[in-house]
Amino acid sequence: MKILRDLSELDEYVPGRGVEEVAREHGLDPDELAKLASNENPLGPPPAVEEAVREAAPTVNVYPTALHEDVRGEVAEAVGAPVENVVLGAGADGVFDTVGRAVLEDGDGVLTPSPGFSYYGMSARNLGGYESSYGLRTDDGGFGYDAGRIVDAYDGEKIVYITAPNNPTGTDTTVETVERVADEVDGLVFVDEAYHEFSDRESAVPLALERDDVAVARTFSKAYGLAGLRVGYGVLPDGMASAYRKVVTPFCVGGVSLRAASAALGDDGHVTETVELARWGREYMTENLDAPTYDTAANFVLVDVSPCDASEVAGELERRGVIVRDTTSFGLPECIRVSVGTREETRRAVREINDVY
Ligand code: PMP
Repeated sequence: MKILRDLSELDEYVPGRGVEEVAREHGLDPDELAKLASNENPLGPPPAVEEAVREAAPTVNVYPTALHEDVRGEVAEAVGAPVENVVLGAGADGVFDTVGRAVLEDGDGVLTPSPGFSYYGMSARNLGGYESSYGLRTDDGGFGYDAGRIVDAYDGEKIVYITAPNNPTGTDTTVETVERVADEVDGLVFVDEAYHEFSDRESAVPLALERDDVAVARTFSKAYGLAGLRVGYGVLPDGMASAYRKVVTPFCVGGVSLRAASAALGDDGHVTETVELARWGREYMTENLDAPTYDTAANFVLVDVSPCDASEVAGELERRGVIVRDTTSFGLPECIRVSVGTREETRRAVREINDVY
């Protein structure tokens, strides 16, 4: 009997390389490495989180249901949404999967930005769907969002992803663009605001509360510094939030993670400091790198290292202890994506990139 379905069209997710792995390969001290490849928080978690995690440790024998409600309420208050419209997931990725389970049927499509974040397509394919893309390249060589181009590329997909700001380009969009796309397409417009805290633009959350065809996903992985605890959330239109609760994996966010998220929400100062550092870092890189950079509203900078080969540049930087993301897998073999680190890490990255380029 054939047990596995045909997975030949699916790829394994390839995450950025970890500090231990890189240190071992190049005989470097892991403490000396600057990991600027995954857009994590260089300041670490908010200080209150460590205590919350320690306090939550004796409760790991019990299921997290009740607390789940509490944290949804806290998130709802923080984003200005009714608690009924807020859902939690194992990272924003978990929110995409669960919304996908509620929306996609076999053979349905998702429309995604290109270059863009790979998990949207992966999640759709896992659910028996397909991915097609709209291009972000503009005539002047940048990566701006244009509602007209999204609408032109639309061909009946059930979900249209808009990443604001986008990964790996850092490009942001406006609520007007989201609204225009939602007016023109039939599917759900799913705005991924994983990097929203770093941007000046307005959030699409009010749109998700006004309309039945716009949803927003956010995460505690970036500005809140909890990437390792896997907490994301969605603000979904009324009917969709109740559908989400029907298909979500029970207890998909652990109790320790929920306590940590609650503590992180209570520390605005840490988010402010993180955002200020990101703004400093992206400006510092833009001004001091010899290679051209793209405008960014996020906590990373896309750097055009052509005519050098991005994989060679990233490899050489890695040997020097600076881990960046070669964006070849995003379809940009001429670029590297560099996350903002601490001030010291960011200055070191700029020195090394200028030396290698
Ligand atoms: N969206 C974008 C645009 C991302 O870059 C990432 C993570 N790199 C995610 C979502 C996933 O975040 P999470 O850790 O919350 O699953």
